[in-house]
Amino acid sequence: MTPLQTYYETLAASMIKKMEKRGFEAYYCPNSDAAVKKALSLMDEGSTVTWGGSMTIMETGLVAALNPDCYHIIDRNLCATPEEKRDCYRRAFFADYYLMSANAVTAEGELVNVDGNGNRVAALAYGPNHVIVLVGMNKVEPDVPAAIARVHAKAAPPNALRLNLKTPCALTGTCTDCLSPDCICSHTVVTRHSQEKGRIKVILIGEKLGY
Ligand code: SF4
Repeated sequence: MTPLQTYYETLAASMIKKMEKRGFEAYYCPNSDAAVKKALSLMDEGSTVTWGGSMTIMETGLVAALNPDCYHIIDRNLCATPEEKRDCYRRAFFADYYLMSANAVTAEGELVNVDGNGNRVAALAYGPNHVIVLVGMNKVEPDVPAAIARVHAKAAPPNALRLNLKTPCALTGTCTDCLSPDCICSHTVVTRHSQEKGRIKVILIGEKLGY
C-alpha cells in the first residue's frame, strides 16, 4: 500500500467508529469496485432505487451497475419535462434506497452538503427508507467550517461549470457568496446524527472521487 492508501485506511477506521456513535452504518472500501460491490450488497433485490445528482456515484460505476431486472429504478434523467422531473424528485421520498455522495465529510463523522434545489438534502434528512452515501476520502475535512469552505472553494465552482450555470464561481473560479438566480448553494445541511439507527449508510472510499 502507498502511504496515502495507509493514511486513508487509518483515518477511515477512526471515522467509522465516530459515525457509528452518530447512528450511521459505516464502511471503508479501498477502491470504487469494492464500494460498488458493498453498496449492491446492502440493497435488497426487488426494491426501488433512485439517486441524487453526484459525480461520485457515476464515477464509481454504481449507477451503471444497477440491474433494471433486479431493481425498480427511478431515473430523473429520463424525465422529458420539468414537471416530470419534479414528480421524480417527489417519488424519491418513497424509494427504498437513495444513493448520493456528500459534498464533504468531517474527520468527526459529520456529513456536510450544500444543495441548490434541496431535493438531495431533503431525501437525506427524511423519506427514503435507506440512504447510501458514497464518498471519496479526498472530501474529508477536519471540522464543519472547513467542510463548508471546501464546498464553496472546490466543489461548487466545477459543479456550476458542469451544469452550465452562470454563477460568479463558474465565471471567475472564486465564490462570492452569491445570490444569483443560478446559485447552487441554497441549503447548507450538516447531518450529525441519524435518529433511525442504520438508515444512513456511509461508504468511505480510498480514492479521489467527485469534486
Ligand atoms: S459563487 Fe454562488 S454558487 Fe458559487 S460557490 Fe459561491 S454561493 Fe455557491
